Amino acid sequence: MVAALINGKEISLSIREELKLGVTELKNQGVIPGLAVVLVGNNSASRTYVNSKHKACNELGMYSEVIELAEAVSEDELLSVVRKLNNDDKIHGILVQLPLPAHISEKKVIETISPLKDVDGFHPINIGRMMTNQDSLLPCTPFGILKLIEATNIPISGKHVVVIGRSNIVGKPVGQLFLNENATVTYTHSRTTDLKRITKQADILIVAIGVAKLITSDYIKEGAIVIDVGMNRDENGKLCGDVDFENVKSVAGHITPVPGGVGPMTITMLLHNTLKAASQIENKSNLGVKL
Ligand code: NAD
Repeated sequence: MVAALINGKEISLSIREELKLGVTELKNQGVIPGLAVVLVGNNSASRTYVNSKHKACNELGMYSEVIELAEAVSEDELLSVVRKLNNDDKIHGILVQLPLPAHISEKKVIETISPLKDVDGFHPINIGRMMTNQDSLLPCTPFGILKLIEATNIPISGKHVVVIGRSNIVGKPVGQLFLNENATVTYTHSRTTDLKRITKQADILIVAIGVAKLITSDYIKEGAIVIDVGMNRDENGKLCGDVDFENVKSVAGHITPVPGGVGPMTITMLLHNTLKAASQIENKSNLGVKL
């Protein structure tokens, strides 16, 4: 058996086409959805992510602003930029690109973003709403993973989902989203003993570790759906995931590639959240797209 590929690039393009219609409809109702991305310092990976987000917004017909601040900017200055954006009527979504320099508290910055404009879905109010299964702005990577599984048309209810990794931005929220979809969820992490015994029970295995090609076929139940969140460089400097794709594809039923799996979905769900935030803030519904 060779696993079917879950093509994040294609799935993401089809979602973006739908979102584009929603943006056009919102514009017809007099509102241009706007995203502000704040970039602090000179981290080259962060700059690449910010540029991709800016470009993706423009392609959809949204307004987008990139605010660049020096590495040495004070926490107070950054917080006042965020407060200004909270009160800016052109802006419906605010994203402060992480990581921030060590002298700035990420927690304070996230908590200063208006929950209504928190398109990353990291504000404790949005996390709390997600935990209690209320409508909210969902964290983009976990939300994108849910959309990837939905695209396979395989029902989630009753499935055993095993998550490897418990970060606040991927592992923890993705497990919660699948619990909300009536899956049985097991979390594992660096202190888990006998990891393989647990992962081999997974109908859906979500891997968010950050170690190149750590997960091999002996971790996988035959026919499982394997979602690889990892973004690493292999020994030749090539982009690769946390899953050893070539090794696992003969055991898994479905698998995401890296690149072209989870990555494109993250930006797509940011666009989704920006459109959703704009429609809620401006009190406009019936955009012809489910938000
Ligand atoms: P993190 O470093 O915050 O968390 C890693 C988690 O992996 C931790 O909870 C840790 O307990 C667990 N872990 C570490 N070693 C382990 C081991 N040997 N066995 C089991 N668990 C282990 O990382 P993160 O922010 O959650 O990101 C994880 C990966 O996903 C990274 O490669 C990151 O670049 C990538 N990522 C990709 C996207 C995307 O859009 N594609 C978004 C976010 C993160």
